[in-house]
This record gives sequence, structure tokens and C-alpha cells, in this order.
Amino acid sequence: MSAKPILNALEATNRNFRRAARLLGLDSMLQTSLMIPFREVKVECTIPKDDGSLVSYIGYRIQHDNARGPMKGGIRYHHEVNLDEINALAQLMTWKTAVVDLPYGGAKGGINCNPKDLSPSELERLTRTFTQKIHDLIRINTDIPAPDMGTNAQTMAWIFDEYSKFHGNSLPIVTGKPLHLGGSLGREAATGRGVVIAAEALLAEHGKSLKDLTFVIQGFGNVGSWVARLIHKSGGKIIAVSDITGAIKNPDGIDIPKLLKHKEKTLSLKDFTGADNFDPAQVLVHECDVLIPCALGGVINRETAKDVKAKFIIEAANNPTDPEADEVLLKKGVVVLPDIYANAGGVTVSYFEWVQNIQGFMWDEKRINYELQKYMTKAFHDIKDKCKTFDCNLRMGAFTLGVERVARASTLRGWEA
Ligand code: GLU
Repeated sequence: MSAKPILNALEATNRNFRRAARLLGLDSMLQTSLMIPFREVKVECTIPKDDGSLVSYIGYRIQHDNARGPMKGGIRYHHEVNLDEINALAQLMTWKTAVVDLPYGGAKGGINCNPKDLSPSELERLTRTFTQKIHDLIRINTDIPAPDMGTNAQTMAWIFDEYSKFHGNSLPIVTGKPLHLGGSLGREAATGRGVVIAAEALLAEHGKSLKDLTFVIQGFGNVGSWVARLIHKSGGKIIAVSDITGAIKNPDGIDIPKLLKHKEKTLSLKDFTGADNFDPAQVLVHECDVLIPCALGGVINRETAKDVKAKFIIEAANNPTDPEADEVLLKKGVVVLPDIYANAGGVTVSYFEWVQNIQGFMWDEKRINYELQKYMTKAFHDIKDKCKTFDCNLRMGAFTLGVERVARASTLRGWEA
């Protein structure tokens, strides 16, 4: 069993897209035009390291589709970033924004680097250099970046500052900014909160609630730690957690607030007094009711899927389950809540941030969370309607919903040059 991707991320995403397009009966020209990205950009970013030596990195920004509005999506700093992965993630953003009905298209960016190996000043230079290379391609009505894996509010502040040197101050150019620089209340927790709202909607349908169930969470970064916090608060029992530092388990439940303190102090999950260390390779196949992957893509493949014991998988990560694994899981009766819905809370609150910046008015957190709940709940019902129409699983329900909305907008706009 290996949690390494078997299928290429782009091939996996294209397969899901084609399957949805066939269910919708889209003609082949429209399919091709929807699948091919609007624009792919690859840039070289050379920066001086703190010791004076030079180092070069490759960065990407892929703008996938703008039929429904400005293209929107995060920027990822990770050592496995490549063109195909960013392409797949950009495409997923197009369907994701459509699923939650935001007036956006999809984009994604990234730099192939290991952010943990870079000092804060090196990260700042890299971010500013990358922004210099793409500043002409992003605009508040064209393409709006945001955080993703390996980036955060500080990264967004540097992008905003660098962009402003060329085009003047424009807060809505990037979302996920710090609160003291045009950020939105609730943005930091938004993806995790959205995941929990999505999970509650699904479980309620099955006559269950968070407090009746056991959870395993893979990934304890921004998304995973918020998911854990909110599930714990609602009375759900989290029995195993993992991240790159290790994995821990406790069948009686892990005290998440204490674990957060432990991680802050030791920078590791391991050796937490309230749980036992175990092999991180076993986390995806650990006994539980609900498995929530919150880290990398491709981890649930045809091999790992065979051994999954959870009854529900909530995809907080982007692209964690490939189409071959989906087939295995479907046969086993495992219900998968797909990424393009389950983790859409982040981009939804990014939208609220953009709206607030444009309005020049700040909403309170109660309003943010209320609106988030509204968007996520409506999308769940829209997906279920598609599942009924096409007699399909939730992944195809979400894909047909997103793809149909984008196809409609494209067709209405027309192709006249
Ligand atoms: N990176 C997040 C995602 O994958 C958020 C994107 C955004 O806020 O634009 O959905």
C-alpha cells in the first residue's frame, strides 16, 4: 500500500471532468474549450539567499477559465509543485467556485520550493520576485490570488505590497490578507469551518451528527487544525491525527486544544502525552467513521482505497482521491464528499473579503459565518439535486453542477472573435 499518487493529478481531474461532461451531454468542442486552460504562465525566479549565493526557482500561474467572472485561486509553495499539478488545481477552482455559485472562474499558482528551507527574508524576496513576474496578469477583475499550502496571510501582504508598486494600492487584488491589511474576519478558519458545515450536511442526511462519530484527520496545517478544533468543539471524537512530523492515536479521543499547545511548543505532533505515536503510513486506513484528508493530493489511490475502513471521507484537501480509488470506494459503500464542495469555504470567505474590500466596509464575524453557512448549505442541496437527476455519486453531482454552470456562462457569452 502506498499513499503516493498513482495517477497524474491532471489526468485524474480531466477524467472526472469528461465523465461529468458526458452525463451533461456537452458537445465535444465545448468540452475541449472548457478543459484547456485560458492561460499558462511559467516564470523563473532567481533570488539572493541570505548568505549571498543565488538560487533559482520555477513559479507558475495558470488561469483556467473566466466565463463566470475573475479567475480565483491560491498560490502554493511546495517541493512537488509542477505544471500538471497546478493545471489540475486551477481547473478544480473553476468547478469549485461554480459549485458554490461565486461570481468567479478558476486559477492556481505555485512555486516549486520547500518553504521550510527558506528564511522569512528569503521567502519575502521569492514572493516579491514572483509577483514582479506575474503582476501584469493579475487584476481585481481578472485574476485574484490567495493562500494555499505553504503560503499564508504574510505571503499575501507581500504580494499586495509588490503589486501596489506597479499599479497603486488595490486591496482586492489578493485575498487571505492579514486582518490589519484588508483581510476578513473568519478567513483563517474558513476552509476548516466550511469542511465542518459540509460534513454536518452530509451526516444529517444519514441520520448522524458529529458527536456520534469517530474521526481521523490527515494533515494538521491551517485546514486540518481548524477542522480538528471545530469537530472537537462540537463533541466529535478525534481518534487519530497525522502530519509530516508524525501520527498519534487515542481510541478514547484526543484533546485537540491541548494538542494545539503541544504542537506550538514542540513543532511536532509526536510524543503528545494524551495519545500514542503510530506509523503515519497507517493513518488513512485507521479504523474510524469519518476520514478527513487535509493535506496533499493523490493519497487515496486504488491501493489505499482497498484498505480504507472509514464509512465517510470528507475531502478537505484538493484532489486527495483519484478516480480509480473512487470506483473502489463506491463498491465498498464508502461515501465521499468531494473537494470541490467540501473545501470551498476558503474561497467563499475569500469572496467575502474581496466584496468587503470593494465596498470599503467590514463585516462582522457573525455575518461572515452566517453567509458561509448559507452558501455551503445551498450548494449541498444543489449537488443532491444533480445526484438525483443523473443517478450518480456526490463527486459527479458536484462536477455536473459546476461544469454545467460554467458551460452555460460560456455559451451565453459566445465565441465570436
Ligand atoms: N487555496 C484555497 C483553495 O484551494 C483558497 C483559494 C482562494 O481563496 O482563492 O480553495
